[in-house]
Amino acid sequence: MNAMELPSFWEGFCVEACEEPAEGTLQITLKADPARTPSCGGCGRPSPLIHDWQWRRVRDRDLLDRRLWLRIPLRRVDCLHSGRRRERVSWLAPRARFTRRLQAWVEALVRMLPIQHVSALLGLHWTTIKDIDRRRLEAAHGEFDGHGVRRLVMDEFALHKGHRYATVIMDAQTLRVLWVGEGNSRKAIAPFFALLGEEGCQAIEAVAMDMNTAFDREVRQHCPQAEVVYDLFHVVARFGREVIDRVRVDQANALRQDKPARAVIKRSRWLLLRNRANLKPEQAIGLDELLAANQPLATVYLLKTSLKEIWYAPDVREGWRRWRAWYRLALESGIVAVIRFAKRLKPYLRGILASARYRLHTSVLEGVNNRIKVIKRMAYGFRDSAYFFLKIKAAFPGKA
Ligand SMILES: [Zn+2]
Repeated sequence: MNAMELPSFWEGFCVEACEEPAEGTLQITLKADPARTPSCGGCGRPSPLIHDWQWRRVRDRDLLDRRLWLRIPLRRVDCLHSGRRRERVSWLAPRARFTRRLQAWVEALVRMLPIQHVSALLGLHWTTIKDIDRRRLEAAHGEFDGHGVRRLVMDEFALHKGHRYATVIMDAQTLRVLWVGEGNSRKAIAPFFALLGEEGCQAIEAVAMDMNTAFDREVRQHCPQAEVVYDLFHVVARFGREVIDRVRVDQANALRQDKPARAVIKRSRWLLLRNRANLKPEQAIGLDELLAANQPLATVYLLKTSLKEIWYAPDVREGWRRWRAWYRLALESGIVAVIRFAKRLKPYLRGILASARYRLHTSVLEGVNNRIKVIKRMAYGFRDSAYFFLKIKAAFPGKA
């Protein structure tokens, strides 16, 4: 290939030489276009006085199946306005080891693929890719903006395999993530209220959250007028763990003599916890058979369904009626795990009934939870929480 025939992709430079230093690698040596005056890296003005120059080696976007390296003679100019400066090159950021074209390519890929895949694809280091993505995210999502927010959703999620937690706070109406921070204590979320400011805090009318968190006290301190709402998603998840799982294990153990029946119950976790509307017809039949054969499981399954109905009540009064009916059923069930759960739920009644006034679709929190898991997988091995949090913010930019 005659290098001189390559079109010039590099404004202000021409191709001087083209070689193949290794299999699959192309190195292009550029030279300054003699017809152009270099620009000052400080003020951008044309600066004809050249002080010196230095080679810089940078990666560009792959050319077909070749890794492309550029050798660029970068000049320093004596600018009459800014003094001695490195020249400005439109396609290369100051001090960058890659072109803007490669940067844009990385930014596009990393939205679709896990970082380690992008790394393997482009032959760039994991941290190089992360830094490129992080700079883009900081520019787009780094600023806090709590303008016009009236309802909040707060949730915690596990960092690093559950050893530590982080908190995500969103605008419940636009589903925009406003803030993400490490920790799930009162102290951990205090900075959010500082950012929101006194006026912003006063504008908050409701905050949705899980029971048993430290969030409610912090909310009451900063936003005393706000109603705390306990969301359905977390309560149902808790019912699944503390009641359905418990009863299922007990029932399986009781069937020690009947191996096939025991196996059916042991395998039924998913069927019991899944939303019935999401089951395939044959799965729904399996569920019905299971419930018909096992009275305690049928009872807790019914209680799970009617528990949800409290949240779907059209108004507070009807919610209260459904709660009373549910509570009575729970106490009369005779199942220890159910009775214990119902008694623990009772002190949260106000925040449960408040959901009739401040409705929050349960899929919101489920969606956030699932999305965070995907982001965690995509960026595998986050040691950089700030970057992880930016990814979460970027995933929920909100709808207008
Ligand atoms: Zn200048």
